Amino acid sequence: MALIVQKYGGTSVDGIEKMRHVAKQVASARHNGDDVVVVLSAMGKETDRLINLATTATPDPSQRELDMLISTGEQVSVSLLAMVLNGQGIKARSFTGGQIGIITDGTHTNARIQRISTERLRESLSRGTVPVVAGFQGMGPESEITTLGRGGSDTTAVALAAALGADICDIYTDVDGIYTTDPGIVPEAKKRLRVSYEEMLEMASLGARVLQSRAVAFAMKYRVPVRVRSSFNTSDEGTWVVCEDLAMEREIISGVTYDKHQARITLVGVPDKPGVASKIFNAVAKEDITVDMIIQNIGRDKATDISFTLPRADAGRAKQAIDRLASETAMGDILLTKDIAKVSIVGIGMRSHSGVAAKMFASLAAEGINIIMISTSEIKISCVIDERYTELAVRVLHKAFGLGKTRKRLKTDKKAHHAPR
Ligand code: ASP
Ligand code: MG
Repeated sequence: MALIVQKYGGTSVDGIEKMRHVAKQVASARHNGDDVVVVLSAMGKETDRLINLATTATPDPSQRELDMLISTGEQVSVSLLAMVLNGQGIKARSFTGGQIGIITDGTHTNARIQRISTERLRESLSRGTVPVVAGFQGMGPESEITTLGRGGSDTTAVALAAALGADICDIYTDVDGIYTTDPGIVPEAKKRLRVSYEEMLEMASLGARVLQSRAVAFAMKYRVPVRVRSSFNTSDEGTWVVCEDLAMEREIISGVTYDKHQARITLVGVPDKPGVASKIFNAVAKEDITVDMIIQNIGRDKATDISFTLPRADAGRAKQAIDRLASETAMGDILLTKDIAKVSIVGIGMRSHSGVAAKMFASLAAEGINIIMISTSEIKISCVIDERYTELAVRVLHKAFGLGKTRKRLKTDKKAHHAPR
């Protein structure tokens, strides 16, 4: 008998018919003798609809009231699913995040889970009742309702799986797993059987929108085996997100990702002296904006250029903050470019292989794609390019690293991969 957390995304619960299908899956797990905890997202695009309503009410709604509003989406789906389950003779009970003790900090619309008390869930399970938990929400200080950021139901599911010591956290979604890249751009993209937490974490923060990156970080920290699979095709095993020893498929690169939600700000002719960069990035940080890549040129004539990338949605606010700064300190020209994209390759095989970056740059160059900025980590290389060439770059890199149908495999590198002898 296993304990399984099943999370269903918005498309999987979009209407009572789809909920009946979910109920069937819950029933089949129960018949296998497994204990199930269900976590749901709001139905379909309900969260978007609620956010739109809020901004129609007032252009800049209070974050507290926004949480009060958008947390209702999940309450609708969990209560309805509990009714559907009950109607089919399966004992089930819906719960809000607060009711089952998901305690968060007080950051409205982007709260972090601080602790979870599993008492109420365990009690429900011991009585043979399936808990159906509202994802995406928690309770902050002074019993305020909080939400966990867009896509946060994933995090609820993984956090519950960790807290309960569940055997599996199944994420049911509208895709049947993690692919080597977006199959919409590269039809030859292949579904991966396994991906390591680290790779998934990079992919999630690099624009692959299958799992919320905080959910992956949670899974990695608590070693929760996560499986991403389609709720419509359950005969397919999907993709396992697991620790590295289990994830090895011996490719150098495991995926190509892209992110078009990027912008770049360049400060031309910034004074080249101590404290200037700190002033700039302080001003940006104060706006709660996360900067991604930063490049500073070699100074000349006591001036230098600084470029950085950031989410496109925050670019206007960041520029305003720096404009304000420029009224006190000379900052040179401030340029904002929105038509850029970030294309990245990810893979733990990179650690034991040289020449990966060179190959990436050469492949882009062969297509005449100019690289504007570069950043690397141990297991990823990202290039900022002109947004127009995003799809081309993805196709070229996917092919160059042999990720399609005829895929290249690493020669077994025993030392690096601890291969059994
Ligand atoms: N309903 C929330 C959203 O749309 C949370 C989720 O779906 O995970 O972002
Ligand atoms: Mg989602």
